[in-house]
Amino acid sequence: MNNTSDTESFTDCHKASIMQFDRAADLMSLDSELRQWLNTSFRELSVRIPVRMDDGNVRVFSGYRVQHNNVRGPHKGGLRYHPDVSLSDVRGLAAWMTWKCALLDLPLGGAKGGITCNPKDMSPGELERLTREYVHGTGDLIGPLKDIPAPDINTNARIMGWIMDEYSKRQGYSPGVVTGKPIELGGSSGREDATGRGVSMIVSRWAQKENKRLNQTSAVVQGFGNVGYHTALHLSRLGCRVVAVSDSVTGIINKNGVDIEAAGRHKKKKGSLSGFAGGESIPRDEVVTFQCDYLIPAALQNVVHGGNFQKIQARIIFEAANGPICPYTEPLLPGAGITVLPDILVNGGGVTVSYFEWVQNIQHFQWKGEVVQAELQTVMNRAFDKVMALAQERNISFRIAAYILAIEKVVQAGHLRGIYQSQY
Ligand code: GLU
Repeated sequence: MNNTSDTESFTDCHKASIMQFDRAADLMSLDSELRQWLNTSFRELSVRIPVRMDDGNVRVFSGYRVQHNNVRGPHKGGLRYHPDVSLSDVRGLAAWMTWKCALLDLPLGGAKGGITCNPKDMSPGELERLTREYVHGTGDLIGPLKDIPAPDINTNARIMGWIMDEYSKRQGYSPGVVTGKPIELGGSSGREDATGRGVSMIVSRWAQKENKRLNQTSAVVQGFGNVGYHTALHLSRLGCRVVAVSDSVTGIINKNGVDIEAAGRHKKKKGSLSGFAGGESIPRDEVVTFQCDYLIPAALQNVVHGGNFQKIQARIIFEAANGPICPYTEPLLPGAGITVLPDILVNGGGVTVSYFEWVQNIQHFQWKGEVVQAELQTVMNRAFDKVMALAQERNISFRIAAYILAIEKVVQAGHLRGIYQSQY
């Protein structure tokens, strides 16, 4: 992960989420009791996960599940496998899910899970045992009406299938306990590429607002996992020139536009973009400052920071990742002429189709792909338009506008349920 500049200390997702929340809460003049209720997790689990490795030894991993707020519906959020996962990161990521679901007006709360591990060094059998043991460790915390995990960094449909199976073994057939499953196990059409598709919908709507056609624009996509790949793919299909992409190993630039499908095939075969012949290779961290209209960080947190923001040439950043901009750097971006479209709006397509999957599971009825896409478009457009309108009306940043809309929803539900007795 990148470091911030000398004057800024490294921030984790929790710190970042609190800083963002506070900026919105100050503008809303939220009282201190409400702040305390909204700024803290409902429940936090740390779990030890012993796994028999293929070599016969047992390794013990650390896992987490943080439930932030469920006043609007069951806790919802992904499960990430990464060597840098910490409880504090998961705590912040869980809060972001609460705000994301509220902004998108999905009847869900916020949660997040993580296991500190390097899945790239693990066999499928080891990953399966790790996942099943994690489900065992989360006990009664997850469930179709309690807390519903989903894919996140380095987790996929296969892993979600194991979660569904392990939970169902104990509780009976329960497809709604997890989303992002294989279609054969009750997954939804369009869930795999939903986050990237949603990002491309937001970028298109922004271009429309700027009176530009997507084929007059260029983008850089940093990160080439599920979100980065599908974002780049959908954008390029819509005519946008994706002039640079990167993964954890290397960056690839091509001013005429990278052939995303070919890059995806290369990565699948070789495990990384390294050696891809469809462009020139550059150090992975340099793609962020490459010339383009739209910069789209789509991997981990803190990739735009004090050390690089002045070199960024894009005027607009679309946060496809959760928390890619250092919160200390963010206030400096307008001065550098950079506008930010925030993560809780931009990457909301994933959890939106997760919500559709959950609904289909409850109904035991499968929607057609066209229905999923049309409904996703409706949700993304509605949230985009609300954020634009409030930002304009109050002359505030898109992030603060998105937070205000989300916080208002959660506070309103809290009042109506009587969970929180407010003073006004
Ligand atoms: N991990 C995704 C996110 O951060 C999706 C969560 C979900 O589908 O529940 O939004």
